[in-house]
Order: sequence, then C-alpha cells, then structure tokens
Amino acid sequence: MASGTLHIDLSALRANYTALAARSAGRTAAVVKADGYGLGSALVAQTLARAGADTFFVATAEEGAVIRNALGPAPTINVFSGHMDGDTPLIREAALTPMLNSPEQIARHHDTLPDAPYGLQLDTGMSRLGLAPADWPSARSHAEEATLVMSHLACADDPAHPQNAAQLAAFGEMTAGLTAPKSLAATGGTLMGAAYHFDMIRPGIGLYGGFPYADAQPVVRLSLPVIQIREIAAGTSVGYSATYVADTPRKIATVSAGYADGLIRAMSSRATLWDGDTPCPLVGRVSMDLLTIDVTECAAPPETLDILGPHQSVDILAEAAGTIGYEILTALGARYARKVVA
Ligand SMILES: *Cc1c(COP(=O)(O)O)cnc(C)c1O
Repeated sequence: MASGTLHIDLSALRANYTALAARSAGRTAAVVKADGYGLGSALVAQTLARAGADTFFVATAEEGAVIRNALGPAPTINVFSGHMDGDTPLIREAALTPMLNSPEQIARHHDTLPDAPYGLQLDTGMSRLGLAPADWPSARSHAEEATLVMSHLACADDPAHPQNAAQLAAFGEMTAGLTAPKSLAATGGTLMGAAYHFDMIRPGIGLYGGFPYADAQPVVRLSLPVIQIREIAAGTSVGYSATYVADTPRKIATVSAGYADGLIRAMSSRATLWDGDTPCPLVGRVSMDLLTIDVTECAAPPETLDILGPHQSVDILAEAAGTIGYEILTALGARYARKVVA
C-alpha cells in the first residue's frame, strides 16, 4: 500500500499559468525545477506546454534533459546553474540553454559549444548566482548574443521590502541599452506589477498554488490511508518520547506516511489532518513512516485523512511546521501514488 495518494489537479495548474500570464504584456515561462516542485516535472511541463508555455527553466542540466525528453525539440529549456564543469555533453545533446553565471562559465561555453545559445544571469543584490557588477564590464559584450539576460529578486515575497526597488534599479542600470530579452520576475515579481516584468516573467510556486500568489487555485490534495484506529485511556501516551499524553479517552488513528515522505518532523503535535470537514489534530511525534492522529471527533472511523486539500494549503501546513510551502511541496516523497485530475 502506498503512503497515500497525491492528487494533482492539472486544470488548476493550467488556470494558474493562464492567470499569471494575463498579468504581463510579455512572455510567460514556467519554472519546473526540483521535479516540477515535487509534482513530476514531465507531467507539469507537458501540461503547461499545452497551456501555451514555450520556455521552461530548470536548476540543473540533468533536469533539463528530462524536460527535453518530455517535450520534444520545440521549447526553450533554460538552466539556472549555467554551464557547469561536466555539463557540456548534456547541454549539447538536450539542446539546453545555460544561464551563464560567471566569467569562467562564459569562457567554458565559448570554448566548448561556441555556436550554442546561452543566456546571462546577473547578480543584482542577492549574492547567490550570476555575474556581479564587477564582472560586468568585461562580460557585457556577450550580452548582445544572449537569448536572455536575467536576474532574481531576493525579497519579492515582501513587496514593501526596499531591496525590490534597489534590485530593479540595479537591473535597469546593468541592462540599459541592451537589445537582448530581459527577465527579472518570478512569482513575487510578477505580482508586483509591470515595472518588474520586462520581456519575460518566470513564475514557479504560483503555478503550483503557493504563496505569494494568494489567488492561486490549489493544485494538490494529499490523502493518507489509516492503517488502524485504537481507543486509548486517559493517561496513555502516543508515539516516540511519549510527548503526547491523553487527558481524556481518545481515538487515535495511525496513518501511513511520515517524515520519509516529506511530512517533516517539525510538524509533530502541530499539524492538522482533515476527515472531510472535521479537523483532526496530529498528536505526538511524526515517525519515519507513520503519523498518529486524534480522530475522536470524527462521525465514523475514517479510512483516509487529508493533510493537503481544500481546508489546508501547502502554506498553512508549512506554517504549522515552521517552513515555507516550497519546502513542503518539493519534499513530497516518491512513495505516494499519483493521481492526475484532468
Ligand atoms: C526558483 C526560481 C524562480 C521561480 O521562483 P518562484 O518564487 O517559485 O516563482 C525564478 N527564477 C529563479 C532564478 C529561481 O531560482
């Protein structure tokens, strides 16, 4: 028996793409790194291609090769990590477009694949990836041939943060006068408005129903099967380290999924599962493969409980666990059966 069923709503995914695309006058790429934010990158990319996406972004060349196999030759597949040592054969064979991040990567690309397309990634203040302002005078001559000049915002989930405007200004200065297409906005930047959109927006999390895209349609529902239900007396403990002790008689359902399935241990005693409209608190520690849930209030013994669904988005669950929706989604393990809702 699988550790539950991950329902993936492809019409919601398409609707989120279309709604984000409608906010920008330019093009709308789709970020499908980390296996399509945990939902399955081939499935996600094929669905978004049907919704009109012709450009995809991945983190690594290996991820890009998976997308190329899924989509065939037509779409553009951009790689954020650029042209790393050892990537040359994959970039060539899968016809990937690396976003070059350093003078070393520029040199490597021109030495090994001089005729292959490339983009440039600029560091406008996040200090993570990209050509720094100090690299730019010597690298700038490569921008005319680039298929894209891009940068990434560090604080776009907080529109009031002053770093957004500072990075926008830095990007504007570094790219002034260039004719290559430009891209700055992921989901957060897309929501901040036209000044951030340039020629291409590149949302990820918003496609999958996550914050900061508050109007997103939910894409995932995660239902977990109950293995057994026991009645415990007041004073009985539940789970590792006996962190939960019942103060009245309770019914405890043991559910097949745990931290090995991405339901991280930080959710212990904090998350809620749902039996239809009835909230059922997770009690005690999350185990590797099991959760213990108080189902005393359920009208009938539940066969499954939802941990993601209409009552609980990835962001609500993430907040209970002290993390972000991105981490919940991308941690979803390989043991779930995946059920596609068209
Ligand atoms: C992950 C990523 C995106 C997408 O970000 P979301 O916040 O998921 O929309 C866009 N650009 C870069 C460089 C990224 O690393």
